[in-house]
Amino acid sequence: MTVYNFSAGPAVLPAPVLLKAQSELLDYENSGQSVLEMSHRSPIFESIREAAEQSLRRLMSIPDSYSVLFLQGGATLQFAMLPQNLATKTGRIDFIDTGGWSTKAMADAKRYATVNVLASSADHGYRFIPEGPFTSTADYLHITWNNTLEGTTYQTPPHVDVPLVADVSSSILSEPLPIESFDVLYAGAQKNLGVAGLTVVIVKNELLDRVPDTIGAYLRYDIHAKQRSLYNTPPTFSLYMTKLVLDWIEETGLEAIAARNVSQAHMLYEAIDQSDLFHNHVAVKDRSRMNIPFSTGSESEDAAFLNFAARHDLINLAGHRSIGGMRASLYNAMPTEGVTALLHIMHRFEQGER
Ligand code: PMP
Repeated sequence: MTVYNFSAGPAVLPAPVLLKAQSELLDYENSGQSVLEMSHRSPIFESIREAAEQSLRRLMSIPDSYSVLFLQGGATLQFAMLPQNLATKTGRIDFIDTGGWSTKAMADAKRYATVNVLASSADHGYRFIPEGPFTSTADYLHITWNNTLEGTTYQTPPHVDVPLVADVSSSILSEPLPIESFDVLYAGAQKNLGVAGLTVVIVKNELLDRVPDTIGAYLRYDIHAKQRSLYNTPPTFSLYMTKLVLDWIEETGLEAIAARNVSQAHMLYEAIDQSDLFHNHVAVKDRSRMNIPFSTGSESEDAAFLNFAARHDLINLAGHRSIGGMRASLYNAMPTEGVTALLHIMHRFEQGER
């Protein structure tokens, strides 16, 4: 059975990745063991961890001056780890507030530091990304690069004289990023990088000097960096799945994936903009290529559309519970046929089919 899964995460995975995981599940590379059973300290698992790190470094052009950490706790744990590790000089953090995930990051940061909102589009329904110039003297500036709920994205990083920290959970490796413009990038794996359980943190080594020894060992970036993410048991199977996804991105080519993402998003925005029924309210310049919210403006019509779509095997199209309407998440693994099928169903619904 083929369904097209538009979930915001955990999300659709590339079919070749699932097939590879299936073929290796019982016996990984003639080791006689499943990755599910392996010691995280065995040489064979170390080769998986190392391959994942090197692949990520190649794909994102991450220099040696940054550490790559494979952690647990989701992007949500980073909302608390970031301030505890890095807001240790002035005790102040600047935020650009672009939606629900920025708000959650700020709420946790406030437990550990003084939070200042440099700019916010909250009064405008988060329909755009506030523009600079910004000045900051805080310990760092935090941004949410792609706003999974509201469907906005930065196109270029804001320029500031303090370290720039970006939550890239819903857009990592959907497009090339200028790594040197960032000091910390972090993402949960369950959208573009694999399955739930793994969180990737890319942190500039010079920031590791800021980490205080008063916080718990697992919370410390410097310990994870020094121990190459083997301070404790990492989420071994999730890390293996991420290695497979990274292999797939390398085989497909990041540029090719980015171009397909642009083209698929364009197909859907064009259909929405030309429709008399469906609307998207995001400022055109800030539209996300990963998460595309849309609505008919009527709760009952939205519900009818979601039902109609599900009956035609287009699943998980409901908007986030805080926003309502529809949301199509078009992560890297969404085949173009899925977008074509969605456009077809939107057209039939607009013609009156139910
Ligand atoms: N930040 C963003 C931008 C997200 O989209 C999400 C998950 N939807 C989170 C943070 C939270 O991630 P997690 O569930 O991995 O903690």
